[in-house]
Amino acid sequence: ITKLRLILGDQLNHKHTWFKEQEKNTLYVLMEMRQETDYVMHHIQKVVGFFSAMRNFAEYLKERGHQVIYLKISDKKNKQTLPENLKQLISEYKIEKFEYQLPDEYRLDVQLKDFCNDLKIETEVYDTEHFLTSREDLTNFYKGKKNMIMEYFYRDMRKKYDVLMLTEKDPEGGKWNFDKSNRKKWTGKPEIPHERGFRKDVSEILKEIEKSGIKTFGNIDVEKFNWPTSREDSLSVLNYFCKNLLVHFGDFQDALHSEQAYLFHSRLSFSLNTKMLHPKEVIDAAIAHWREHKDEIDISQVEGFVRQILGWREYMRGIYWKEMPGYRRTNKLDNQNKLPEFYWTGNTKMNCLKHSIKQSLDNAYAHHIQRLMITGNYALLTQTHPNAVDAWYLGIYIDAIEWVEITNTRGMSQFADGGIVATKPYVSSGSYIHKMSNYCKACAYDVKKKTGENSCPFNTLYWNFLAEKREFFKGNRRMAMMLSMLDKKSGDEIVTIKDRANDIINNPEKF
Ligand code: FAD
Ligand code: SF4
Repeated sequence: ITKLRLILGDQLNHKHTWFKEQEKNTLYVLMEMRQETDYVMHHIQKVVGFFSAMRNFAEYLKERGHQVIYLKISDKKNKQTLPENLKQLISEYKIEKFEYQLPDEYRLDVQLKDFCNDLKIETEVYDTEHFLTSREDLTNFYKGKKNMIMEYFYRDMRKKYDVLMLTEKDPEGGKWNFDKSNRKKWTGKPEIPHERGFRKDVSEILKEIEKSGIKTFGNIDVEKFNWPTSREDSLSVLNYFCKNLLVHFGDFQDALHSEQAYLFHSRLSFSLNTKMLHPKEVIDAAIAHWREHKDEIDISQVEGFVRQILGWREYMRGIYWKEMPGYRRTNKLDNQNKLPEFYWTGNTKMNCLKHSIKQSLDNAYAHHIQRLMITGNYALLTQTHPNAVDAWYLGIYIDAIEWVEITNTRGMSQFADGGIVATKPYVSSGSYIHKMSNYCKACAYDVKKKTGENSCPFNTLYWNFLAEKREFFKGNRRMAMMLSMLDKKSGDEIVTIKDRANDIINNPEKF
């Protein structure tokens, strides 16, 4: 053996050119490491999900005749960090060349570059062959433009990849974006098909994780682990989505419901982010299904889905590589408060937060609007430090990898980048939550009440946030209407709002 090729835990790309041919002199390595389980505290399902998917991938390669070393978390030989394990393998197998694929995380990018700089043998870096843009494409696209509105990038991607295009220039359906029609509340109808769940027994892997002393949080049903961990599983989730959920995906994209954790969402993010699925194959599958069922499925449903993957997902990756490493330190709103303890338990009387957090702890999943308009909204309204918000999001969701977590959390949700990703902060009072969900019906608080003991805390916090950040947002045209409404409030009203907001922020256990 002369060549060592590293496969990271989120590089499970079955179709990569590396694997087209079996090379006798090549050794592949995958490793479970404390370096990866400990850089933030992860949900237990996330650790189980990654380790299971990595183990399945190693088996897949072995079955196809590749030579693979797999270091389990409990292996005595495992030194638990990337450089130390690699150094050991290079010397043990007398490796002459080391190769790896471009990592998606800045942290790993630096670590591997440093490692290679110190190596005496030849090294080579490959593309992961996963994304539809390179690290630099987005920066080049927006060069010379005033702001980086996602929509323009998305349209360019549609043209570039000939996705939902009528002609070279014109979009199918006469419109680029059907977002406006995608904002329905779900009130029990249409029926949500049975979940495409998995019932995997993960007791063995769980024992190994527990024995190794990794600190995790969240819940897990060891006999019914519910996430796809192989390419086969992932294709089955994709197929299920196209057949059963796509038909209403767009309509209920923004809906929230206390009893429905998934609604019509695809749950494909883990398969995509680990690269078990390619974004283009997901887009193509959805469009092909729509073409065959145009009489049942409206174009707005499929366009909404395509926009998330071809638009937002690639856009966020571009922002990450454009803005890192400084992005990790942004806190333009100078928010300094602690994340309330109930984010780790779900124990709060605020029904929207209770359900969104409990579902996250149970499933390692929340859909986009729960992340943005419930937990994210509350964290921003209470002026929580973005480091604490990031750590929570990076740990709790099975799909959380920094490149897509931090851009969504710090950027889209917390406005900590000062408006690179979002043109205005995603904050709302209780009325938006009431409009889109059934949470308020069973809540201890009254969403219609603006002040007083049982008034909805989101109402108080919303006006308090605007008052506190007035100076920062005064030049933002998209905030002008809200700020002029704020200005109509009397001094007494503002004092009452501020007093209660301080109580909510300083005593979260009371609420
Ligand atoms: P669906 O609603 O079915 O959407 C289909 C696919 O579109 C997703 O699988 C995902 O790949 C892509 N997508 C949708 N929205 C986005 C987006 N804003 N950015 C990038 N891709 C998107 N997504 C992650 O993959 N990892 C994260 O760590 C993550 N953290 C988030 C944190 C916050 C505060 C917010 C507001 C959003 C975050 N998102 C993250 C984006 C989005 O919420 C998830 O991708 C989505 O909920 C995953 O569920 P799904 O597969 O059922 O998505
Ligand atoms: Fe959330 Fe307020 Fe509605 Fe309660 S009343 S569920 S706190 S928005």
